[in-house]
Amino acid sequence: MSKRSEAPDAGASPSSGPSQRYREKWNWDTTAWASHCINCYPGNCQYRVYVKDGKIVREEQAGTYMPVEAGVPDMNPMGCQKGNAWSQMLGSPERVLYPLKRAGERGEGKWTRVSWDEALSDIADATLDAIQESGPESILQVSTPNEGGLMAGMLFGRVIEKLGGMTTDVNADINDFNPGLYMTYGKVNSASSVDDWFHAELTLVWHRNPVYTAIPWYHFVLESRYNGGEIVVIAPDYSPSAIHSDYHVAVEPGSDAALALGMCQVIIEEGLYDGKFVREQTDLALLVRADTRRFLRQPELTGAGRDDQFYAFDARTGGVAEVPRTTLDLGEIEAALEGRFEVTLADGSVVEVAPVFQFLKDELADYTPEKAAAICGADAEMIRSLARKVATRRTNLLLGFNAGKYYHGDLIERSMCLLLGLTGNWGKKGTGTRSWSVGMFDGAYLYSMKEKAGREEALRVLAMRDMIAAGVKMQDPTMTDEMTSFELMRMSAAMGNTVPPAFLWYYHCGYAERWNKPEWNDPAIGDGFDSRMQEAISKGWWQGLNRPGPDAPPKVMFEIGGNFLRRMRGGQELLLENFWPKLNMIVTVDWRMHTTGMYSDIVLPVALSYEKLTFHIPTPDILNLTLSDAAADPPGETKPEFEIFHLLAQKIEERAAARGFVEYRDSRGATRRLDNLVSSYTLGGEINTPEKLADEWIQDTATFGNLPEGTDLQTMREQGSVRFTNWGAVPFAVAQASDLEPDSTHNPFRWHTEKNMPYPTLTRRAQFYIDHDWFVEAGEQLPVHKPNPQQGGDHPLVMTSGHARSTVHTTNAVNLMMMQTHRGEPSVMLSPADAQGRNIGPDDKVCVFNDLSEFVCAAKISPAVRPGQVIMYNGWEPYQFDEWKDPSSIEPGMVKWLHLAGGYGHMRYWLMQCQPIPIDRGIAVDVVKA
Ligand code: SF4
Repeated sequence: MSKRSEAPDAGASPSSGPSQRYREKWNWDTTAWASHCINCYPGNCQYRVYVKDGKIVREEQAGTYMPVEAGVPDMNPMGCQKGNAWSQMLGSPERVLYPLKRAGERGEGKWTRVSWDEALSDIADATLDAIQESGPESILQVSTPNEGGLMAGMLFGRVIEKLGGMTTDVNADINDFNPGLYMTYGKVNSASSVDDWFHAELTLVWHRNPVYTAIPWYHFVLESRYNGGEIVVIAPDYSPSAIHSDYHVAVEPGSDAALALGMCQVIIEEGLYDGKFVREQTDLALLVRADTRRFLRQPELTGAGRDDQFYAFDARTGGVAEVPRTTLDLGEIEAALEGRFEVTLADGSVVEVAPVFQFLKDELADYTPEKAAAICGADAEMIRSLARKVATRRTNLLLGFNAGKYYHGDLIERSMCLLLGLTGNWGKKGTGTRSWSVGMFDGAYLYSMKEKAGREEALRVLAMRDMIAAGVKMQDPTMTDEMTSFELMRMSAAMGNTVPPAFLWYYHCGYAERWNKPEWNDPAIGDGFDSRMQEAISKGWWQGLNRPGPDAPPKVMFEIGGNFLRRMRGGQELLLENFWPKLNMIVTVDWRMHTTGMYSDIVLPVALSYEKLTFHIPTPDILNLTLSDAAADPPGETKPEFEIFHLLAQKIEERAAARGFVEYRDSRGATRRLDNLVSSYTLGGEINTPEKLADEWIQDTATFGNLPEGTDLQTMREQGSVRFTNWGAVPFAVAQASDLEPDSTHNPFRWHTEKNMPYPTLTRRAQFYIDHDWFVEAGEQLPVHKPNPQQGGDHPLVMTSGHARSTVHTTNAVNLMMMQTHRGEPSVMLSPADAQGRNIGPDDKVCVFNDLSEFVCAAKISPAVRPGQVIMYNGWEPYQFDEWKDPSSIEPGMVKWLHLAGGYGHMRYWLMQCQPIPIDRGIAVDVVKA
């Protein structure tokens, strides 16, 4: 009898054979709610985890989301292949199960297993040495959206803040930022709920590849077709998302501003723009002086008054009129959009002025469809056709974090916003563009201000915050609540220890030389990066946040849940040569051994999702608080972050007491104490377990009104996820500027479009004209197209990137099951034309190189790739490449000099906003057979 005929167990006892083994698979002792609390935006997929004999045996998508809005599909089942394979990682070979201490040279791969006590003692001693020898600012945490979930980052933040250490701004560290959105709206944090995508009549998938990166939510894009919606993918390559689109518009990498401006030209030329929206919501009606190219301001017109009072030309009266600052409603003013006018200034001189719209119209003469097509490579008739569609349909510009990673990504995004602004396409369902946001979970965010446990203390903290806000508003009563919340963040940024990391990179990591290369920059940089840096600092644009200064190198570095050596553009060679020798102690806190861990001195092992109680970072895209519970005990000696940082605080206190070193001052003169770290961490000992912390956060959040009344940890354990009921006080959530309704999809900016609430910009309107000195000098006061600089040298190909389908960043990069979904090794994609010209065949090893360095990997040859383009989907570990050299080795990690500009209206730093960000797209390379 063949084996095959043996397989069915007909006649066999139901308690034996394959059917029984199959049934056993569906047996379990307990279940728990969970998610994957990593940097997976917007994440929050609710999973159910099954446990047998104390071990996780499998997980599945919970599929428990209720429909939100009648007629709109629900979010079920939410999940992706990484989530479905998560349990495979719990026992994976890269897992670190015990504290490890370096036994050889950094990176040599020799480790000694040590006790928690020994590891923490070494870290505590190195920390105290650094504080005593160089001051507390020599303790550095490089930021990342932690793999430990919400708890990890916030809890270590509490320790490092008490010490007076320094933290880098996460948004520049990872560059998931949209500089052009910030410049236009004064905020980046707009994010519609994913189900709102369903309402779009036209979806422009632009600088995004949602088929790879938005797997749980992409169905809303496809389902928009039930409304007659069309899907257009704009990308250089025939991307995986293009396969599912109605149109693919192929463009040269980095030329998207020309495409967007070509469409704007058609819309204005054909009179398709929304005049009311343009006049009220944008700055396009404001008057600009022809001689200075600056806005006409009150002091020059009247001899006194506000520098941020602007004017329009009122066609009704035939004169200039003050544009209201407290509302977008223009009232009786019939603001002219076109024309040139003469105005007599306070000093008696007469100057010519024109609305921004007129200047824009003049500029757009350089972007007729034919001229734009010559730049971007799209067909001129396609530009016309697309422009007419955008002008007449609810358009959702499904933007990702790709555009901002180009040198002129700000101009690309400003041009996209202009297209939406001309056509009235934001602030109503199915429209707008997006970035990221967090918030609503105010119990967690305001926790750091609490001095003791309980609701009364939570309300005291909120009242204190409101009192400070009221004080800020008293200085300028015309500020909206949104503006006030941003100003509070700016105040705390200036006093706090979170710094834009560009200064760390410039002074200590070896980037200055390449940032000063004129040929890798836009020519408008003038005398060079050094000169711009000096000017920006001397003018006080960075409010003393240009730290750590050249004479204050960090001594101890913590990497918690991130992978600095993989993530940094410019790569490990640069960092290992310039930054690593300055550090006396490098500590990695993570669940696995990654490249940074390999070059660390101590690695502390962490419990993974399913093994610890935490939450996914809540976002407006999903609008749920999602619990991830401890379904099973952590393996080996791994611990939840809550416990690790608690132990570290105890150890620092203990070692400090032994030294008799209890009090010191930081560089700003603030007194710091080392005998209250644990008390501060646990709120006087009351919050001493993850359960107590979680319950405190949830109950405080419900007390603030952001969760249903009475919600606590028990509620979460029963339901898994709970929908938020209010935005709360966190500025990123306040920036949504729309009512949060229980039975409606969320689209941001409706307070602006429906209630005429001003925007948090200098002009209090969506601002397309930036008359900052540097912007005028660079010719970027209006959105324009500029060619991508030849970063990396004079090479014929352009390397682009994006997330691979198989990773959430690098977390899953070496997961065996994930690697089985592709070739299991890094690969780069080439067009047949470029491969043939270089005698490269499928799967050949190729060397990708430029002036900086090189890396070697397999070639995938695909006609989907645009000739001249090299696509390197990222997410690989450097140690998966020959000699551990990965693509970041050839990414110069440039920053755009113009992003050092500040001191102008909304263009002033606050947390996760408005700062220099690293560039890794559009890099000049060549490829040869290895
Ligand atoms: Fe959802 Fe992220 Fe988990 Fe995938 S990894 S299932 S997208 S939370």
